[in-house]
Amino acid sequence: MTLRDDVSSGDQVESNGTALVTGGSRGIGAAAAIALAADGWNVGLSYRTQADQAAAVVAACERLGRKAVAIQADVVDPADIERLFDEVAAQLGPIGAVINNAGVISPAGRVAEYDVERLERVLRINVTGAFLVAGAAVRRMSTARGGTGGVIVNVSSRAAVLGSAGEYVDYAASKAAVDALTTGLANEVAEEGIRVVGVRPGLIETEIHEPGRLDRLGATPPLGRPGKPDEVAEAIAFLASARASYMTGTTLDVSGGR
Ligand code: NAP
Repeated sequence: MTLRDDVSSGDQVESNGTALVTGGSRGIGAAAAIALAADGWNVGLSYRTQADQAAAVVAACERLGRKAVAIQADVVDPADIERLFDEVAAQLGPIGAVINNAGVISPAGRVAEYDVERLERVLRINVTGAFLVAGAAVRRMSTARGGTGGVIVNVSSRAAVLGSAGEYVDYAASKAAVDALTTGLANEVAEEGIRVVGVRPGLIETEIHEPGRLDRLGATPPLGRPGKPDEVAEAIAFLASARASYMTGTTLDVSGGR
């Protein structure tokens, strides 16, 4: 049962244009792709390795009456990102919303033990990747560059605020950088027809967590349970929609009070 099970077909919903979701094969990105399709968006999604899961998300979007396509693209590879944006636009039409979602977590550990390889991996994917995707979005959507505007939704984490002591302070820092990207870029492109907003999920039931972590921490949020990907996807779909037309530079916590 998902929050969108009552929506059998997107036919009754007016088309919203094309949304691109990075890391749309699984977890929060997959749920966001389906929520956006239910809201009338055609959806292009990227994945790194999980082609079968990406194809299943495409099929779910198509069952909602929308066009969808999955494209393999690594968010740390500028050529991949260019190809991703170009192929999605060629197949589905001009992109009006970009969900900057692909991300990774580090293994649990204390700062004193981090090595360069670990630090560079999480910062490269979560920070460099998010900046590269946001830049590609601005180059296509900015009214100053011939585009028609749009919205970028950055997927941050409550870790950015809480700090994740003893687990992954490097991941928390990478998401604090994503929050700064939301604030700074929103101001930079506000007069170019682009809103930049974000979500900070708390503990959400996806495969990103190390085994046992959800069982250990699941009951700790004030709401007494972990969140579901759909519950984050609803906030993303709202922020991407015209219903959030006066929101930019802001990041919503979706964290059960944690
Ligand atoms: P997930 O289930 O592990 O899914 C990660 C997605 O990102 C997959 O689609 C994966 O593709 C893709 N991906 C990873 N590295 C990539 C790369 N280098 N290039 C392109 N795609 C890449 O993770 P999730 O929990 O849904 O997390 C999604 C976002 O939410 C992340 O930014 C994460 O930091 C954030 N978040 C999650 C939680 C949580 O509790 N789950 C909380 C706060 C924030 P493949 O399937 O092909 O591997």
